[in-house]
Amino acid sequence: MSEQAKNAFYTGLQNNLSTLRDQGLFKPERVLASRQGAEVQSEDGRTLINMCANNYLGLSGDAETQKAAEAALAKYGYGLSSVRFICGTQTVHKELEQALSKFLGTEDTILYAAAFDANGGVFEPLFDENDAIISDALNHASLIDGIRLCKAARYRYANNDMADLEAQLQAATAAGKRHKVIVTDGAFSMDGTIAQLDKIVELAEKYGALTLIDESHASGFLGATGRGTHEHCGVIGKIDIITGTLGKALGGAMGGFTSGRKEVIETLRQKSRPYLFSNTLAPMIAGASLAVLDRISKSTELRDRLMENTAYFRKEIERIGFTIKPGTHPVVPVMLFDAPVAQKFAARMFELGVLLSGFFYPVVPMGQARVRVQLSAAHTREQLDTVLAAFEQAGKELGILKNN
Ligand SMILES: *Cc1c(COP(=O)(O)O)cnc(C)c1O
Repeated sequence: MSEQAKNAFYTGLQNNLSTLRDQGLFKPERVLASRQGAEVQSEDGRTLINMCANNYLGLSGDAETQKAAEAALAKYGYGLSSVRFICGTQTVHKELEQALSKFLGTEDTILYAAAFDANGGVFEPLFDENDAIISDALNHASLIDGIRLCKAARYRYANNDMADLEAQLQAATAAGKRHKVIVTDGAFSMDGTIAQLDKIVELAEKYGALTLIDESHASGFLGATGRGTHEHCGVIGKIDIITGTLGKALGGAMGGFTSGRKEVIETLRQKSRPYLFSNTLAPMIAGASLAVLDRISKSTELRDRLMENTAYFRKEIERIGFTIKPGTHPVVPVMLFDAPVAQKFAARMFELGVLLSGFFYPVVPMGQARVRVQLSAAHTREQLDTVLAAFEQAGKELGILKNN
């Protein structure tokens, strides 16, 4: 009998997985045989131009980043076998926290093993049932989970919709909530939308609310010197709490952070559960991240090249006859609308040597199927031209170009 009950569990999983496969929602892993970069080798030995990494500054497979990691590895060793407060804090962790604060224009910063942990551990220590969290509907899963872990009342506003945000602020005010905090991704990874932080800060001031932004798709490249969305929108120093990742533009290995006023960060060091109960960031990652911050603080060359590549790709892909979501972010959604077409298209691009990802319902709304291109500073003009030629060819073959 108990054996039967156990079998039912495994059979249930098998059925659910088959359903995912049947619905085309099963996510296979793509296996690379090379390091990350503008070009990668797939498992079968083929060389592909990579248009789907969050490797915005091209630092993931970069030799200088690797050298900095090696130097930190040699000096600080492989790991610490400890959480931060027992014996897992080295000088390199303190230096990185200071460097991040300086880079972001904040007072203090706390490191996590991932941005997922930073977002998971930021709400519960700071807000309770007397408070209100006012959250963009398209916020990242880790923000949503972090908000769920805290007892504050939740208010959701339609993505990037400032009128709805104001309505939710009014509702939270009418409910007599003590603290209110507006929570948004700085840049949204599906559409490349950049949050209107200037307007959000205005509304926050009007309603006495705090602001929290997740800068995972912004830190290192948005804004004239790459500080992020707050620089892009001219509100440096006006955002209360900034979370972000070291696993995208800022080196690409892993690690996350929360940054803000001293009393916020100190509270998180005392009470944030992913910080208290999870191992410290590996010192080689801290050392390499420090070198990355130093490099991009001295020169805007990488973010400038990224933005040039982005502007070039956005202009050329439209000229060829594709529809994109307008904007300036290096995330470029190329709209194919129909899910089977997007699937066929991504598969054909793969045959033509271009790695990119397709997104369909339910990841994006019905009728908004797309392939998502992500530009990198590591892409050469020649590689972009090769990718654009492949887009044109696949587009012609499938008869989906606007102009012809
Ligand atoms: C990628 C991402 C995260 C998670 O970052 P990790 O450091 O990989 O955990 C969190 N928030 C946003 C908006 C992201 O895009």
